[in-house]
Amino acid sequence: MPELPEVETIARGLAQNLTGDVIESVWLGSKPEPLKSRPGEIVRALEQARIAGVRRVGKHIVVDLSRRSPAAGHKKKQVLRFAQDDNAKAQWIVHLGMTGQLLIANPEHELPKHTHAILRLRSGRELRFVDPRRFGRLAVVRHGFAAPGAEPLEVSFGSFANLFRRRKTPIKSALLNQGLLSGVGNIYADEALFRAGVRPRRRAASLTRSELKRLYDALKEVLREAIAAGGSSVSDYVDSNGDAGFFQFQHRVYGREGEPCLVCKTPVKRIVISGRSAHYCPNCQK
Ligand SMILES: [Zn+2]
Repeated sequence: MPELPEVETIARGLAQNLTGDVIESVWLGSKPEPLKSRPGEIVRALEQARIAGVRRVGKHIVVDLSRRSPAAGHKKKQVLRFAQDDNAKAQWIVHLGMTGQLLIANPEHELPKHTHAILRLRSGRELRFVDPRRFGRLAVVRHGFAAPGAEPLEVSFGSFANLFRRRKTPIKSALLNQGLLSGVGNIYADEALFRAGVRPRRRAASLTRSELKRLYDALKEVLREAIAAGGSSVSDYVDSNGDAGFFQFQHRVYGREGEPCLVCKTPVKRIVISGRSAHYCPNCQK
């Protein structure tokens, strides 16, 4: 499942490639699951809209749309109509779920199986949403999209520490709670806890101020390094150009059950916390 660094990588690639392009027409597949807004609503918001920008909010890709400025001549009337057009500043929100991909392709490129949406662009290219397992979601919103949790790369240490006060859940589960922090998933939670020297099963509220500070720094560090490496290519993740990321080669505990800890050579342990696997070094993490 793509986490924050992968979504950031994809959003940056899309922003570089698509900003300024215009969506000429939209095709949506017949499977209902990927569509969180009504199909007609999605088509109306996207068709003839200009892509003003693409960015990541939590684990969502947000495509900011704008309508073309009114033609000269009938300016006053059209400005009025423009202001009343509730699609004028719509946003297209994409959540990739487990296996979703947004791929830029030429129309002659073979259409992958499980393509659920195709945006035909003025530049002649297509933006395709492909998702074999159909946990991904497409939606349009008109009033500014916000993720529920704090942004891990922007949150202050004070606010970060406050998130975990009086929380009795394991720190690992608290890190994965999207209502607290937005976009942190299994890989980067395990990696950050390893770097911070904190066991995943520790109660969140039991972490000392200095442990919280180590975790805060480690989480930012691991996310930044992963973004720089283009994300982790586990399962079938690729960015918008179909390229893999490389951060999986820097995982220190995630997916390394039974292998020696890179610091002390103790075998890495894997446990299950609320249905999710957690990897840690029983010697380095307290
Ligand atoms: Zn160790």
